[in-house]
Amino acid sequence: MNKKPVIAIDGYSSCGKSTFAKAIAKQMGYLYIDSGAMYRAVALYGIRNKLVDGKTVQQAQLINQLDNIQIDFRKNMEGRYATFLNGENVEDEIRGVEISEHASNVSKIKEVRAKLVALQQAMGKNGGIVMDGRDIGTVVFPHAEIKIFMTASPEIRAQRRYDELKARGMEADYQEVLKNLQLRDLQDSTRTESPLKKADGAVVLDNSHMSPDDQMKWFRKQYSK
Ligand code: C5P
Repeated sequence: MNKKPVIAIDGYSSCGKSTFAKAIAKQMGYLYIDSGAMYRAVALYGIRNKLVDGKTVQQAQLINQLDNIQIDFRKNMEGRYATFLNGENVEDEIRGVEISEHASNVSKIKEVRAKLVALQQAMGKNGGIVMDGRDIGTVVFPHAEIKIFMTASPEIRAQRRYDELKARGMEADYQEVLKNLQLRDLQDSTRTESPLKKADGAVVLDNSHMSPDDQMKWFRKQYSK
């Protein structure tokens, strides 16, 4: 039997990658994996164990403790996948603005990336998966059958992120969200380890003025034979 395709979606923070990736996974009957949640879970582990605070990361200690960090995705009561860190559901806790910044900091560490990339590759080894992140088409699945690079204007992305935080009942300030997002864009695209960039063969999707439905129409048009 032919292996089902891998769909790799990369792009800037808060572009709506996960909404799009989930919709594609649903349509295709594939598994959806949010690779960013894994970096967020490592950051949360770091915070809880006092290895990450302010702008500093106790890099050597975090690397030493990587084997103590187990991350997986399990279905919650409503049948939606949630992120688990060492057996605990941390899905809500990892979504705050503070964790976003720490996730971006821990994601610069080569050893952290090596661990998570290996886990992601194992999750996708049988195909039939949609994974979103920053290095999925460049590093995790360079041979993915479908690669999409998403982008949208920073102001529109900040507004979407702000609305999402509010909808989750979290405190948020638009200017702070915008600043955090611009900082992450810069960090993610200029770091030495697997910087965010368009993968060879990726198709660019600027969804600044597209609804989720428009994006699915684009996807069907782009990839229907
Ligand atoms: O996608 P999300 O915003 O949840 O990711 C949080 C952070 O994790 C990003 O800002 C980025 O620094 C890092 N990340 C990464 N590689 C991925 C996914 C996320 O470096 N594949």
